[in-house]
Amino acid sequence: MTPPRARSGSGPLRLGSGERRLDHDDDCPLFSERLEEHLVALSRGERPRSGRFCGHCYTPMSPERARCAHCGEEASSGRRPVSSVPEEVMAMLRRQRKTERAWVTGYAYLGLGLAIVGGLALVLGLPPLRENLLGATVTYALVLIIGGRAAAGLLGGGVGDRQGYERARSRLLSEWEEWLLRRDAGPGAGGGVPEAERPERAPDA
Ligand SMILES: [Zn+2]
Repeated sequence: MTPPRARSGSGPLRLGSGERRLDHDDDCPLFSERLEEHLVALSRGERPRSGRFCGHCYTPMSPERARCAHCGEEASSGRRPVSSVPEEVMAMLRRQRKTERAWVTGYAYLGLGLAIVGGLALVLGLPPLRENLLGATVTYALVLIIGGRAAAGLLGGGVGDRQGYERARSRLLSEWEEWLLRRDAGPGAGGGVPEAERPERAPDA
C-alpha cells in the first residue's frame, strides 16, 4: 500500500516526482487529482489496475458512490462506471508528463549554460581575476556550483514548469476532444471495460 501523501491545503498538488500540478479550468476533466495519483501508483506497481472509475473522466469512485465527485457524472443515468482506465487515457497522462519533464529539463540546462557563460565572462572580464589563476578558478567554480544550480532551478522549476504545463495541457485538450469523438462514436468504441452489472440500490444520500 502507498503511504498517505502530505497535502498542503488548496495549494498546487505535489506529485511524487516533485512536479507541480497547476490548476486548470477548461472543458477537459482530465486529470483529476485522484486519477493522476491512481495512474502514478499503477505505473509503480503499487496499485491494481482494476477498480471502479467514473465512466466519463475515469476518476476512481468508491463502490457506494452514485455520482462522480470530480465531474458530476451520474453512475446510473450517465455513463456507467468502468472497471479500468482505458489504455489510451493512461497514454495521454504519460505523454503529458513526458512533455512537462522535457521542458523542465530543457530550461534547467539553459540555466546551467547561462551560468557557464556568465562565469566565464566574469572571470575574463575582471582584471584582478584574469591575472590570478587560483582566484579565477575558485570564482568560476563557485559561480558554476551555486549560480548554476540556482539558475537551473529557477529556469527549470519556474519558466520550464509553466511552459511545459501549458504546452502539455493544450495538447491534452485536443487529444481529449479526439478521444471523446471516438468513445462516443458507438458501443465498444473504446470507453473502457464496463463494470459488472450491479444490483439496483438507492442513490447516495
Ligand atoms: Zn467523472
